[in-house]
Amino acid sequence: MKCSVDLEAREIEELYINIDPIQAGGRLTIDAMKAIIAYGDGYSVCDNCRKPFRLDYIKKPPVDAFHRDLAHFLHMDVARVVAGARRGFQTVTGTYVQNGDPVLLTSLSHYTEFLSVEAQGGIPLEIPKNSDNLITGDATAEKIETVTREYGRSPSLVFIDHFDYQYGNEHAVRDVIRVAHQYDSMVLYNGAYTVGILPVDGKGLEADFVVGSGHKSMAAPAPSGVLATTHEHATEVFRTTRAKGDTTNRTFGIKEIEMMGCTLMGVTLVGMMASFPSVKERVKHWERELANARIVVDALRSIEGTKILSEYPRKHTLTRVDTSQSFDLVAQKHKKRGFFFTSALRDRGIVGLIPGATKVWKFNTYGLTRRQVEYLVKVFRDIARENAIPISG
Ligand SMILES: *Cc1c(COP(=O)(O)O)cnc(C)c1O
Repeated sequence: MKCSVDLEAREIEELYINIDPIQAGGRLTIDAMKAIIAYGDGYSVCDNCRKPFRLDYIKKPPVDAFHRDLAHFLHMDVARVVAGARRGFQTVTGTYVQNGDPVLLTSLSHYTEFLSVEAQGGIPLEIPKNSDNLITGDATAEKIETVTREYGRSPSLVFIDHFDYQYGNEHAVRDVIRVAHQYDSMVLYNGAYTVGILPVDGKGLEADFVVGSGHKSMAAPAPSGVLATTHEHATEVFRTTRAKGDTTNRTFGIKEIEMMGCTLMGVTLVGMMASFPSVKERVKHWERELANARIVVDALRSIEGTKILSEYPRKHTLTRVDTSQSFDLVAQKHKKRGFFFTSALRDRGIVGLIPGATKVWKFNTYGLTRRQVEYLVKVFRDIARENAIPISG
C-alpha cells in the first residue's frame, strides 16, 4: 500500500510486535489517529485564535485547558508544549546558560542535553555513574564541589534523567535535586522515559523544570513534548517579547521569546491532546507494564549465557541485554552471521532490534498485552532451543 508514488504506508505496528526501545511509548492511540486526520492541515489549531493571539489561549479546540491540565498532571504550576524534549532543554538553557557557564549532566545523559548546553556556549560536565550504572546524590555533590573549585561558581543548572536511555535504570532524582539545591543549582528533571507512562510529581520532587517527550512517552506524533515549571521560573523561561520595529513601531503583544511565539500549531498538538485522557489513565497501570517487562527479562535470563546489563529487578520496561555469550556464539557459526537473530525474530513477527544485533541490545515491552509478552517469551526461547542454547528452569 502506498501513500503517494514514492511513499509506502508504514505497517510495522499493524504487522509486527514492535519492541523498539524508543518507539513503545509514542505509539498513537486511536483517538490521536482520528485527530491527526482531522487536523492534518498546517496551522489547523488556529481557526479560532483570537486576542492575545497565543497558542496557550486558544479555547476552540481547548488548547488553553490542555495547558492547565498538563501542568496539573505533572504537579507543576505552568506548562507549555514544545517540539520535543530537546526543545524543552533548549528553552531552559537559552534562559539560564551563558557562554562559559558550567552545566552538569550525567554520564548517562542523552546527546540532546549536551547539545542544548553547547548551543549556549555552556560547558557540559558529567556527574559520573557508579559501578552499578547509577547516578547518586553523593556523586552529584562531589562533582559540584569540583566544578565550583575550578570555575569559581557552582553550575547554574543540573540535568537529571529519572530513567536513562541506555539502561533504563532509575537514578536518585530526589537526592540529586536536594543536593543541587544546597549549592543553589536549579534542576531540570528529564522525564523523556517517564512523563506519560508513569506518574510524575514535579513539585513533590522539588524539580525546577520537568521535561517530557510527546513522541517518546505520551502517545503523540513527533516532534512534541512538554516543559513545565514553577510560577517563579515561568516569568523567566516564558518571558515575553519587548521587541519593537524601529521603522514601523510594531510590537508583538505577549509572544514568548523562547517559544518563538507559538510552538505546536497542528497535528502534533491535537495528537497530544487526543491521547491525553488515555495517557492520564495509563500511568496508573505502570505496575502491570513492569510485571510484563519482568516476565520477558526472566525468560532472557533463563537462556544460558545471557546477561541483563540493566539494574535487576527491573524498574522500567526498557532493558539492556548482553547476549554475547548466548546468541552471538550462534551468530559466529551461522550462515546468516549476525543477522540470524533479528531475522529469526522478524520471521516470527518481532521487530525493533537493530538489524544484526547479537551482542548488546535494548528492547522495550511497554504497551504489549500479556498475550504478546507470552508470545515474545516463547519466541526468544524457541530461537535459543533451535540453536542448541541451553535453557534453565
Ligand atoms: C529520547 C530522549 C530525549 C529526546 O527526546 P525528544 O522528545 O526526541 O527531543 C532526551 N532525553 C532522553 C533521556 C531521551 O531518552
